[in-house]
Amino acid sequence: MIAEHKTDVSTNRTIGSLKGQQEGPLVVLLTGMHGNEYIGVQAVEEVLGILKDSDGLVRGKALAIRANLKALKHKVRYIDEDMNRIWFPSIIEKIRTTPEESLSSSERVEVKRLLRVLDQIENQYGSYPTIMVDIHTFSAEGSMFTLPDQEPGQIDLLSEIYAPMVLGIGRSLHGTALKYYQKRGLFSFGLEGGQHENSVTKKNIIASVMLLLRAVGCIDSEGYRPEMMEDFQKHLKSQTHHLPVQTEVVYQHLIEEGDDFKMRPGYKNFQPVKEGQWLASDRSGRIVAQCDGYVLMPLYQQQGREGFFIIKEQE
Ligand SMILES: [Zn+2]
Repeated sequence: MIAEHKTDVSTNRTIGSLKGQQEGPLVVLLTGMHGNEYIGVQAVEEVLGILKDSDGLVRGKALAIRANLKALKHKVRYIDEDMNRIWFPSIIEKIRTTPEESLSSSERVEVKRLLRVLDQIENQYGSYPTIMVDIHTFSAEGSMFTLPDQEPGQIDLLSEIYAPMVLGIGRSLHGTALKYYQKRGLFSFGLEGGQHENSVTKKNIIASVMLLLRAVGCIDSEGYRPEMMEDFQKHLKSQTHHLPVQTEVVYQHLIEEGDDFKMRPGYKNFQPVKEGQWLASDRSGRIVAQCDGYVLMPLYQQQGREGFFIIKEQE
């Protein structure tokens, strides 16, 4: 196994990369698209550390990247605008053709720099798959989950992680990097690891990424640190066994500028809600659930435009 630390000193965009002796898939671990979600960066650093120390990556390549460096430095979701809501082909094209000094926000500069790394990955498409994992955390308490697209291959692969899958987020969330790359045919999914600061979140992400690397063959499925891998599996199962396996987004509450949105306290991911239940308030009064289901990603932080989602179990 070859460990590359081609860390770009001026930007530190690359966390690190590992290459196995044998050919295999490329797994891209994208972290820190939101700067307050730095636990994802730390988790991925630990994954690379574990694999490096134990010579664990035998096939393919794992590449870990930080997305929004300036926001990570300040531990805020974003500096000028949400970096994960501007991935529309027209905006991306404009970012590509505009010199950095003329770009209108810190995040557009970050996207331009990130594209230099991600473009190389896109050009590497070979006989082995490229898999991109977009790693996030969230402000509410409650279980981790994954955001696959509808592709059956993804759903099979993600069932190896034992986290609930939430489908159809792309229908309500626009301008995400995930949606942009899925549309371009890159096998990519979101990993929402847990609450930003909860101590279990880092382990959730480490365990998920390790099980994923094993599922795609980068780590040997037998023989590689069986006790540790079993522990990861048990950990994730214990977090998620009581939750629906496959759900889909049925409702999204969008916040407008100046709404003064406030989620009522105590809501967690996958908490069941009934139609008409009082979930939040804003300047126009009470906001109630539009339908029965489970609440997802209720917003308990200042920055962010989605107040909450309601999801339903897929039949
Ligand atoms: Zn995020």
